[in-house]
Amino acid sequence: MSTDIWGSVCSGLEKDVGKDAYKNWIKPLHYVGYENGVVRFQAPTVFLGTWVLRNYSDKIRGRFSDVGMSVKRLEFSTSGFTAASKGNASVADHTAAKDAPAATGISGETPGAPLNSRFTFDKFVVGKPNELAYAAARRAAEGGQVKFNPLFLYGGVGLGKTHLMHAIAWEAKQRAPTARVLYLSAEQFMYRFVQALRFRNTISFKEMFRSVDLLMVDDVQFIAGKESTQDEFFHTFNALVDQSKQIVISADRAPGEINGLEERIKSRLQWGLAVDLHPTDYELRLGILHNKIEIHATKYPEVVIAEGVLEYLAHRISTNVRVLEGSLTRLFAFATLVGREITPDVAQECLSDIIRVSDRQVTIDEIMRKVADHYTMRMTDMIGPRRSRSIARPRQVAMYLAKTLTSKSLPEIGRCFGNRDHTTVIHAVRKVEALLQTDDQTSENVKLLRRMLDA
Ligand code: ADP
Ligand code: MG
Repeated sequence: MSTDIWGSVCSGLEKDVGKDAYKNWIKPLHYVGYENGVVRFQAPTVFLGTWVLRNYSDKIRGRFSDVGMSVKRLEFSTSGFTAASKGNASVADHTAAKDAPAATGISGETPGAPLNSRFTFDKFVVGKPNELAYAAARRAAEGGQVKFNPLFLYGGVGLGKTHLMHAIAWEAKQRAPTARVLYLSAEQFMYRFVQALRFRNTISFKEMFRSVDLLMVDDVQFIAGKESTQDEFFHTFNALVDQSKQIVISADRAPGEINGLEERIKSRLQWGLAVDLHPTDYELRLGILHNKIEIHATKYPEVVIAEGVLEYLAHRISTNVRVLEGSLTRLFAFATLVGREITPDVAQECLSDIIRVSDRQVTIDEIMRKVADHYTMRMTDMIGPRRSRSIARPRQVAMYLAKTLTSKSLPEIGRCFGNRDHTTVIHAVRKVEALLQTDDQTSENVKLLRRMLDA
């Protein structure tokens, strides 16, 4: 009963505040109940609750009164917010692909999914983990002679598969405006197929799919275990390959690992080129943040982001880019709301639900071991008294990493390194910071170590 009320209030609110705002702010709320004029919610963070209270109170009240409930007060609590409702899911939704699609259906009547105008090649940040996928996608978009068919892009959630596919579609459309480019999810493919069966127009279904120049099917793992859809997919696929039309497929894992997919389809998928999007690393995350922050900064010029915030986020937030984007959106909203400068501490407070999830504390011991390994020196020298350069330098690097990767204080770090004074640690941190600017060798080493400790 109560959830029905909330359900109908929600559909009204979605109209009042718009799809995006609804998804960002209202949907993450848990409706607890209504009693004596008080409506109670649980919010994933204090910040989100405060935001809703300040911005949407009237609208929420209005919608409740539409269903005959007068509301005196709204209450938000954050306690008891548990795994089921925290972190990834809600934040992930903040900037989900469906957010702001350009309303462009692809090419005339072809029933493709709309393309997101943000998902272009020039907005895709390239780094080690995705450079191969990016290059292959570029190639597929060029048109001309088909070099690998299909192009199979795979990788975990939020790593950019859909972004790359949309980018291929945009680019291909631009290069050849008359080309029939069709992008859709495997789920939509199945839906169309089932409709065609139902209305007995499988002929036109087949014709339509066989007449495209570039077919892209996203999240193909969806058709695993769905036999007749797989069958139809297989025939479509073969027909297009026979005509040398480019096909691009994505999935959350490699073709061979999709259970419930027929062997003949698996092997067909492996004929082409399968490239995976690896989980993002620290550098890529930082690059993406720098890139996205420019977009936010033009929208909110008044917001000040302190030094070290992006580094902090790149280090503390998981590999999923969608979550990374969601965090930035929330931070900017927070900054405009409270008019405070964003510092690493503020970021931590505002994103506590996300950061907790992806928090994996590296220990100083781990850092010392990795660094010692990397420079082939003995652990005992890490904490020992020797001061020759070949030993002092790696030790300084380890201290620097301890300072930037853990929350330990300078004296604590000093103690771990054979009871050294905190001023020695300060000196080491400054020294390494200076070297990062001037010495390629050191900066390569630090990058590599960071990546290893990050994994
Ligand atoms: P997937 O389809 O693999 O689950 P998406 O393509 O939907 O992931 O990407 C999730 C979000 O992250 C999108 O908003 C996308 O623009 C963004 N994103 C992912 N990778 C990158 C990247 N390398 N550069 C810029 N944005 C990226
Ligand atoms: Mg996707």
